Order: sequence, then C-alpha cells, then structure tokens
Amino acid sequence: MKSIINEFLDLVKQRNVNEPEFLQAVEEVAETVLPYIVKHDIYYGKNILLRMVEPERVVTFRVCWVDDNGEIQVNRGYRIQMNSAIGPYKGGLRFHPTVNMSILKFLAFEQVFKNSLTTLPMGGGKGGSDFDPKGKSDNEIMRFCHAFMSELFRHIGHNTDVPAGDIGVGAREIGYLFGMYKKISNGFTGVLTGKGLSWGGSKIRPEATGYGTVYFAENMLNTKNDSIKGKNVVISGSGNVAQYAAEKVIQMGGKVLTLSDSSGYIYDSDGINTEKLKFVMHLKNEKRGRIKEYLNEYPNAQYTEGETPWKVPCDVALPCATQNELKLNDAKSLLSNGCICVSEGANMPSTNGAINTFHKAKILFAPGKASNAGGVATSGLEMTQNSLRFNWTREEVDKKLKEIMGNIHDSCIEYGQEEDGYINYVKGANIAGFVKVADAMLAQGIV
Ligand code: NAP
Repeated sequence: MKSIINEFLDLVKQRNVNEPEFLQAVEEVAETVLPYIVKHDIYYGKNILLRMVEPERVVTFRVCWVDDNGEIQVNRGYRIQMNSAIGPYKGGLRFHPTVNMSILKFLAFEQVFKNSLTTLPMGGGKGGSDFDPKGKSDNEIMRFCHAFMSELFRHIGHNTDVPAGDIGVGAREIGYLFGMYKKISNGFTGVLTGKGLSWGGSKIRPEATGYGTVYFAENMLNTKNDSIKGKNVVISGSGNVAQYAAEKVIQMGGKVLTLSDSSGYIYDSDGINTEKLKFVMHLKNEKRGRIKEYLNEYPNAQYTEGETPWKVPCDVALPCATQNELKLNDAKSLLSNGCICVSEGANMPSTNGAINTFHKAKILFAPGKASNAGGVATSGLEMTQNSLRFNWTREEVDKKLKEIMGNIHDSCIEYGQEEDGYINYVKGANIAGFVKVADAMLAQGIV
C-alpha cells in the first residue's frame, strides 16, 4: 500500500512544484482514501483521486485600485473551481498577503470533502487575493472589493459558483462585493453567502463556523460520556470563528482561557466571560484593534508576544486562526498538559506531524473539514432560503446546524472507527467526503 501512496504523491508533487500546503492536504487525504479505493472495485483503476486533485478551472486576474493617497495599487485575484460533481462550486474568499496558489488550492481541495460531508448539494472552490486589509480605510476596502468583483463576476453565479467570506473577508467586504456584482449583473441573486440579514443573509451564518466547531467537540466528548461543561478551553485566533467558538463554549459552561492574533496571545486565568468577549468583539470588529489591547481593559490577564497559546494547560483546544499554527511540539505540549480533545475551527491548523501525535495518543481529534463544516453548511442553508425567498428563524437555523454537525459526526464514526474502537475522525471525514463526490463523478462519466 505504501508504494501505491508514494507513487501517487510523487506524481502530484511533480505536477504541483512549490505548493507545499496543497501537497500537505493531498497527502493527508491520500493516506486514508487510497487504501479504501484499493479495497473497492467500483473506485479502483479509475484514477478517481488523480482527477479530484486537479482543479476543474483556475482563474487568476489583475486587480488595480487607487489608495487614499491617489497611488495606483496592483494586487492579484484568484478563483479555484475545484470540483462541481455534486453542486455549484462553493467556498470562501481570503484576503491576506500570504495568499498564493498553494494556499488556495489546499483550501479548495479540503472544501470539496467538507461540502460533501454536509450532505448539501455544494461543490468545492476557494478564492481570494494577496490584498492586505489591515490598516486600510473603509473607502480603500470598498474600492478594492469593487475592483476585485469587476473581474470575478464573469466567473461566478448563483447556479455556478457561490463565494463567501474567509480570513480578511467579513460582513463589510461581502457587502461591497455583492454591491458591485448586483450592479454589473443587473440581478439580485444569492451569488454570495454571508450577506447582511436585511438583504438575503441567513440568521446564525456569522456564528455558524464557531458554534459548529464546539457542537462537534461536544459530540466527540459525548462518545466518552463527557461534555464541554466545566472544561478549560484554549482557543487561538480572535476573528469570526474564534469569537463564536468562545461564545458557544461559554454558553455550554466551559471556561475560555485564551484568544490570539498573529502578534501573540492573551491568557486570562479567570476565564473570558460574556462581558469580556463582548469587549473583544467590539475591539476586533468595530475598532479593528489588536488582541493585546485586551489588557488595557483587563490588566490581570497576561499577553505573550510572538507565540501561540498551546503551552497553556487545558482540556480542550480549538485552533481557530490559520493553517499550520499547531505543530508537532505544540501537540506534545498539549498532550503533556492533559488535553483530551482538539476540534479544528480553522482549515488545516494542525500539521500532519501534530495529527499523527494526537492519533498515537488516541485523544479525540477532529479535522477542520469535519468540525468547521458548520459555516459552509449554513451558507448552504442561506442559498436555500434565497431560492425560496424565505427566511428561517434563528432557532430553526441553529437546530439544522446542530443536526448537520451530528450527522457529520455519525459519518466520521461510520467510516473512521478502528478495530480497537478508536474513532479516527481524519479517516472517517476523508472517506465519507470522498464517497459521495466519487459516486457522482463516476455517474457523470469522464468529463
Ligand atoms: P478572520 O475573522 O479574518 O480571523 C482570523 C484570525 O486568525 C485573526 O485573529 C488573525 O489575526 C488570525 N491569523 C490570521 N493569520 C494568522 C497567522 N498567520 N498567524 C497567526 N494568526 C493568524 O478569519 P476567520 O473567518 O475567523 O477564519 C479563521 C480560520 O477559520 C481560517 O483558517 C479559515 O479558513 C477558517 N474557516 C473560516 C470559516 C468562516 O466561516 N469564516 C469557515 C470555515 C473555516 P490577525 O488579525 O493578526 O491577522
């Protein structure tokens, strides 16, 4: 088996040189899915995984805009349309200076499996730009978003490709992107998700990724007759996913000890309660400040510059910032400090070395493609509500979100339970996600 996997990975490497994040994501999938393919005649010998690692279409484009000083700026825009076997391409847009082909292809590849796991009819895609929103004025953000959409609009559509937010793309950016799309397409359609509530957005969409990550952790803990209640929880990030993961942990009776940003992390041994979290939300969302400013309001907390929070002792860890933020040594620190459960809110935050360490220790570990699927699932619910021209209540959407997270958890058990009873959620998510997409691709022929 090892030689089949290596041969496959060598071929993917040759075709995708200088794309380490993409290769990392493919390796994690290949190691669990290729053994499954070999055992199942309907998939074997059809190069089905090789077809899945090749994007159906990649678009890159120039984005020119004028900053507040009258200088002309040039950025690069991308959209990766990875797989449309089970529905229109669906996946977020990321605005961050580190954005490149490797990062967007890894995200688009993961998205295919994640969207399949939700059981909703969504293919996988991802896009974005190397534009850095930090320190830009509202007018600069608007001019950039308008320029970006003035090209992207010809590649997307409510039945073709439906982007959403991701790092650096929140409610403000979705508003500006939608405004330009509506103007140049002369139509009000559900072409983007994460829209404002008064113009087509779904209730619970902003909360969904963070809430879903915690619901998934709760499902995992329940398999051990345990729960979030009373647990010490370490969270990284302080953006959309981290904020609502923290909110849900607090609501479910857990104690949130940390939050972070790319400069460092804060540790509040008294716990970040509802009032403190409200301060963080205002600081990050309205003032666009840095997490270390938490100490101006709550001086008993500690701030550590330039580090991630994984050395803080905890029961549950929720990495909610970015890819490869939790490395092998971080995994070892978490384990030696007694961590029993890791549920990924971010995409691919744990390196493959860290994941192997969690698996060897047989702790509860959920990969982002399963545990953070609540966001895209609720985007799927937003698309349905847009088509029906109808809005579900907060309670209805939350109930559906909980059910979807429960169903994803069940699928992971179905395909990931090992002989000794340990649930390998990585294997479960990869195979369950693969089966639905592969079946659709086989049914549709070689296209
Ligand atoms: P966001 O609101 O932009 O927040 C991102 C957070 O991560 C910020 O605190 C940011 O700190 C931190 N961060 C970004 N790059 C970092 C780096 N290189 N090192 C350390 N910290 C870094 O984005 P988000 O929507 O919460 O997304 C967070 C993660 O969740 C991403 O992996 C994203 O792909 C994933 N995700 C998001 C959704 C969704 O619905 N939004 C759905 C599924 C998965 P700075 O402010 O210092 O940059």
